[in-house]
Parts: sequence; C-alpha cells; structure tokens
Amino acid sequence: MNLTWTPEQLARREKYRAFGRTAVAPGAEDRDATGDFHRSAWKELAASQFWLSHVSTDVGGHGGTLWDFLANLEGLATGAEDSGFVLSAVAHAGLIHVLSEHGTPEQQRRIIPALTGGALGATAATEPQGGSHVAAVATTARPAAHGGWTLTGHKSHITNAPAADHLLIVGRMPELGKRDITLFVVERGRAGLSTGDHEHLLGQRTSPTGPIYLQDVAVTDDDIVGEPGNGLATLYSFLAFDRLMYGIVVAAQLEAALPGAIARITDRHAFGSPLAEHQMIQDKLVTARTTIESSRHLAYAAADALIRGDDRFSVLASCAKLAASEGGVHSALELMQIFGHSGYERTQPHERRLRDAVAIRIAGGTTEMQKKNIFKDTAERFAPAAT
Ligand SMILES: Cc1cc2nc3c(=O)[nH]c(=O)nc-3n(C[C@H](O)[C@H](O)[C@H](O)COP(=O)(O)OP(=O)(O)OC[C@H]3O[C@@H](n4cnc5c(N)ncnc54)[C@H](O)[C@@H]3O)c2cc1C
Repeated sequence: MNLTWTPEQLARREKYRAFGRTAVAPGAEDRDATGDFHRSAWKELAASQFWLSHVSTDVGGHGGTLWDFLANLEGLATGAEDSGFVLSAVAHAGLIHVLSEHGTPEQQRRIIPALTGGALGATAATEPQGGSHVAAVATTARPAAHGGWTLTGHKSHITNAPAADHLLIVGRMPELGKRDITLFVVERGRAGLSTGDHEHLLGQRTSPTGPIYLQDVAVTDDDIVGEPGNGLATLYSFLAFDRLMYGIVVAAQLEAALPGAIARITDRHAFGSPLAEHQMIQDKLVTARTTIESSRHLAYAAADALIRGDDRFSVLASCAKLAASEGGVHSALELMQIFGHSGYERTQPHERRLRDAVAIRIAGGTTEMQKKNIFKDTAERFAPAAT
C-alpha cells in the first residue's frame, strides 16, 4: 500500500488551492449573506480545465486517474473558503461521474463536454415526501401516445437546481414491473420542466438549492442513463461517490481553518499563559485534526476501493461521510469556542463554518442513513460462519 500524491498531483492540488483563494474566496462572506452562487468563478473553474482531468479523452478530457481529480477537488476545497461553491462542485462531479460510468457514448458526447465547459449539473433524488428512502420516489415516466414517455414529478432541495443546465432525475417506469427505478437526464428548456427559487437555508447558502418540477416532460431512450429498471444500483453507486467527496472536502476545509486557530491560541493569553498551554484548548485542535485525518483517509480508502472494484467501496464511503459530517460539526463548534465571543460574531468565519457543517449531516444522505449502511454491511460481512 502506498498512499502518497505524486509530485504532479501535489502541483495540481496547489494550483486549485491558489485558484480557490484568488478566484472563489473573495466576497464569500457577502455571497453567504445574500445567498448568491459565484457563477463567474464557476466558468473560470471550467476554463482552467478543472473538470477535464478524470474525463475520457473520447469526450475531450485528459483521461487521467480519479486521484488527479481528487487532488483538484482537495485543493479547491482548501483554498475556496466558500463551502457552498464546493458543494455545488461535488454535486456537479456526481453527474459527470454517473454519465462517465453509465451514460451511453451518445450521452457522453452530448453532455459531458458541456459539463466540463462551464454548464452546471444537478442530481435529483429527493422528493417532498422524503429523501432518505430513495427507492420510494414518486416521479413517474408513463408511455406517451406517439412513442417515448412523459415524466412527471417534483424534486426538492436539489443542489444547483435553480441554475442547473443538465439535471439527472431519479424516477420510475411502472411498465417495467416491480424493479422500475430508472435514471433520466434532461436539460433546462425542455417543455414541462421548471425549477424554483434558491431555498433560504441556514448554511451552504452560496450553493443554489431548490426544487425541480416536471409536468409531462417528453423523454426518450436517449435520455435514460444506465439500464431501465436498474436505476437503484446506479444511484447507490453515485451516492457513494458523493460521500467519498464529502470526506475529501470537509477535511480540506477544516485543514484550512487550522492556521487561524493556532495563531489564536498562541497569541491569546488567559490565566497568565497562552491558550495553547491549556490542555482543554489543545483538545479542540486534537478533535479537528482527528476529523481531518479520519475523514480524509477513509475517503482515500473508498477511492482506492472504487478504483480496484472492491465491494467495500460503499461502506468505506459511508464511513468517510460519517466521520466528515459528525466530526465536521463537532470540530466547527470546538474551533469556534477557541475564539470566545469573537468566534460567535457574524463578521467572523467561524459561525459560517458551523452553519455550513450542519448541512453535511443531511445532504448526500443523512448521518442516520450512513449508520444504517455501515450497520448493514457490518452485520453481513462479519456474520458468524454457519457451523
Ligand atoms: C444543502 C443540501 C443539499 C442537498 N442537495 C441534494 C441534491 O443535490 N440532490 C438530492 O436528491 N437531495 C439533496 N438534498 C436533500 C437531502 O438528500 C435530503 O434532505 C436527505 O436525504 C434527507 O431527506 P429528508 O430531508 O426528506 O428527510 P427524511 O427522509 O424525511 O428524514 C427525516 C429524518 O429522519 C431520519 N430517518 C429517516 N429514516 C430513518 C431510519 N430508517 N432510521 C433512522 N432515521 C431515519 C433521517 O436521517 C432524518 O434525520 C440536499 C439537502 C441539503 C441540506
């Protein structure tokens, strides 16, 4: 086992850390207040070839490894200081991933160059009646009079939806029988498809999150991603990919907060000594560091499992997401505490980090759903051998 970035990957991580710092971070606090997505930085990110690294050369990509892309993402998340922007990137990467893995060559040629070139993608599973039970979707495709189908349904709380150009929709095709969950990819502008306003959320406010309405949207075979009726398996695999990315970005964002925290505990004194000398303060840094290393390295382990086709990919991705989401909230609270009253002020980044962190317990599958996945895998994998 050899878990190190190559010099080339370190260079790309640094390139995107610097990009995040100069092109994304400025104005993040104001965008958090107004709930604005940084669309011009999104276009710049695409122009910098961020998305091309792990995309096939057949559709204009560089044909690099998954690690190349993860190095880009880790760098961006370290520098950006705009968690919503990075969340939008995670959702968008999920759509590129699912099309790369399960799309037809025609879909890949038609959509991936747009997604790597500045268009915005969304992946929509959650519906108003619930998001945890993903297999219970009500969005339905029915046969149309003149061939193809019409897709009708309502999706809620979808990252990028208010501004997305291409949308992956989880639906069902009752004509197929019991196993009918099917994925569709549709573009903005198609008759019957509309999106609602950016929701007013506690955190991740710079990522446009909102509903999608589908009323008799005409879809054909060309819009089906993967095998009809096999959408649940495809969905589970791309949700696991999302979870892996959460492990990477939460670790990177927390790491970016450490220098400020160290400076604070070094400079600030209480009871005649720097805060850094008080063990209860040291413990807060230990919490953050443990979260960074555990969520990051579990995500790396999940990426390694994905590349090798190891069936532990999904459970490792759930472990990474759980470490990131729970450790992320705990660490954000602990780092805020180091700053005392000033950490609680709206003008400081600490309260924004906490609000952003809470969303990660919900987005991409809740904490409870990760525990459910981990328990199920554990009970199956470690069941006592039959005697
Ligand atoms: C910032 C943000 C971005 C998002 N982006 C997307 C997106 O891009 N695409 C998308 O499809 N969705 C997205 N979502 C929605 C998210 O995936 C759902 O909110 C989430 O899956 C939970 O669904 P729900 O809100 O309907 O809660 P419910 O499913 O109604 O669950 C409510 C609570 O009950 C718990 N619960 C449910 N079942 C069980 C059980 N069996 N055992 C124990 N506890 C249980 C849940 O964990 C949760 O705490 C986003 C959410 C947020 C906050």
